[in-house]
Amino acid sequence: MNYDHFFADRLNAIKKEGRYRIFADLKRKVGEFPYALNYHKDGIDEVVVWCSNDYLAMGQHPAVLQAMQDALHQCGAGSGGTRNISGTTHYHVMLERELCYLHRKPSALLFTSGYIANEATLSTLGRHLPDCIFLSDEDNHASMIQGMRHSNAQKAIFRHHDMKHLESLLKEQPARRAKIIAFESVYSMNGDIAPINDIVQLAKQYHALTYLDEVHAVGIYGRRGAGQAEAQGCLANIDIIQGTLAKALGTIGGYIAASQNLTDFIRSHASSFIFTTSLPPAIAAGAFAALRQLKKSDQERQKLFDHVTFLKQQLTKAAIAFINHDSHIIPIIIGDPHRCKEVTDILLNQFRIYVQPINYPTVPRGSERIRITPTPKHDKKLCTQLVTALHQLKKEGILTNQQSEA
Ligand code: PLP
Repeated sequence: MNYDHFFADRLNAIKKEGRYRIFADLKRKVGEFPYALNYHKDGIDEVVVWCSNDYLAMGQHPAVLQAMQDALHQCGAGSGGTRNISGTTHYHVMLERELCYLHRKPSALLFTSGYIANEATLSTLGRHLPDCIFLSDEDNHASMIQGMRHSNAQKAIFRHHDMKHLESLLKEQPARRAKIIAFESVYSMNGDIAPINDIVQLAKQYHALTYLDEVHAVGIYGRRGAGQAEAQGCLANIDIIQGTLAKALGTIGGYIAASQNLTDFIRSHASSFIFTTSLPPAIAAGAFAALRQLKKSDQERQKLFDHVTFLKQQLTKAAIAFINHDSHIIPIIIGDPHRCKEVTDILLNQFRIYVQPINYPTVPRGSERIRITPTPKHDKKLCTQLVTALHQLKKEGILTNQQSEA
């Protein structure tokens, strides 16, 4: 076999479809977020980043940077081992404790990313709980899907946020069978929010565990930033909360928060928890500082939502359709990968505005989009610049075929 031809052919097919991924080569400017330097073949430009998941700009917050620097100077760079073999530092312990307080759970467990937290926990639960079945929302993230798949447990998929469908699937199962309802709170590509209390009610009625991915909600929703379960008043009713340190908390890593026995079970059985080096202590220190800041201060959340509201108003005024759910994520559907790329290329090259085109398999084919994520640092001036640029593309017939719902 000519291996190289095989790879090149497959890549050419992706290029023809217009969904070949080109990474922007960025250098973020500390203290000047959302400005960043964009390195490209003709030189370096300063651009405004409009698609970062550093939703609250905590990756630049002075308290986070100071905590990371202190930990780095005290402990050095890496953790030096797996959690079991010398890689549990006091910073890891403190962070897990803080995550327990945040989610009001007896125990929390850190992973090296949110992806791994999902994959490890779901695959371990599905493999070990006897005759377990997952009830999974059809729009769940790839990491949850992989976790369920790797468990080899049965899976029933319910239509997105369709409680009647979920109930009909639950009803088909014997009362004594182990069941896990797996879902997200904020779906990141549409920005819609799960009816958590309705799902909890069904879970109680049919004796299922609830597994909630709060990756796009932690830090942003709820009085203390515990996410949508806190905002919807049902923290105590969720069995397993999963989150990330990499988005609104500004660093990297993931976690679950749950009962003592459940987290201990995952700690003792999950391969991708056990057999990998733990997070660097400076990362744990930074995430800890971000959590503490967001627990005591509402300012970051308030500014974020001020900018979200303003941007949505300006887009509406300019007749630019977007998906409008009650969240901080603003998707604009373009509906074709080539046009999506054209729009983002023009925004970058002419307006110095960076938004990444979002294509299949991240979103279904035909719903290619740009996904705009304001932060506390995207002020009214930047919002107006973005809308002016989009409006011009609309006038020139480049930004077309929009739908308001995906
Ligand atoms: N869960 C959801 C819903 C996500 O969107 C993502 C990543 O975007 C993850 C989990 C993975 O989190 P992380 O980026 O921390 O690996």
